[in-house]
Amino acid sequence: MNLAPESPPARSEDLCSRHRAVLSKIENAMPAGGRTNPTLLAVSKTQDASRIRALAACGQRRFGENYVQEALAKQDVLADLALEWHLIGPLQSNKAKPAAERFDWIQSVDRDKLVHALARHRPLGRPPLNILIQVNIDDEDSKSGCAPGAIAGLADAIASHERLRLRGLMAIPEPHPDPRERARAFEALRRLQADLAARHPGVDTLSMGMSGDFELAIAHGATLVRVGTALFGPRAPAEA
Ligand SMILES: *Cc1c(COP(=O)(O)O)cnc(C)c1O
Repeated sequence: MNLAPESPPARSEDLCSRHRAVLSKIENAMPAGGRTNPTLLAVSKTQDASRIRALAACGQRRFGENYVQEALAKQDVLADLALEWHLIGPLQSNKAKPAAERFDWIQSVDRDKLVHALARHRPLGRPPLNILIQVNIDDEDSKSGCAPGAIAGLADAIASHERLRLRGLMAIPEPHPDPRERARAFEALRRLQADLAARHPGVDTLSMGMSGDFELAIAHGATLVRVGTALFGPRAPAEA
């Protein structure tokens, strides 16, 4: 791997061919039976606006960002493009206002306080803010996300707000080296999602799977996969 401190920006042909490759893997990972294709969310954290623009030129419309401030700067530069923005990183309550104003989806809602802050700040002129509840499926102390037992209460809180639209669940399962363990986590999430959808008919989204495991996630029911590295290449020399 080339460890030059500043790797040259990928040419857009490379981006487009990686984009096509990911889309075809998504299609091939679909279990038989005619569900609609899972959505590809391009995770663009640490990528500058010009690379997002280049990927958008390949036909990619949905982008995921982890940090509110970083995302706002890019959104300003890319305001001429009709992109859909998802916040996938942990959200502090004091950033709820810009998040509610500037994103289309918040995938990292894991507590009541955040629900009410987002509802209060979603501008009236915009459609309701799409919300995913982030679940901590491995029960690790260090990670964000609510416990599975807290989903029902949070869902009711979200559904009670007109400015919010509950769409489903998001999770970042531990990248367990044994694919059977990963599959177990994905299956647990699929069941939680089914329970939630039974009580909230608008629920249609299960966000799980990243560059290393999005095909497995799709085989186990993911409707949205969050892919960074497989599209943009490694994020930083240290990760190469
Ligand atoms: C960075 C990130 C991703 C993408 O990870 P890759 O392995 O680069 O595909 C997906 N989801 C979340 C929440 C992330 O923070």
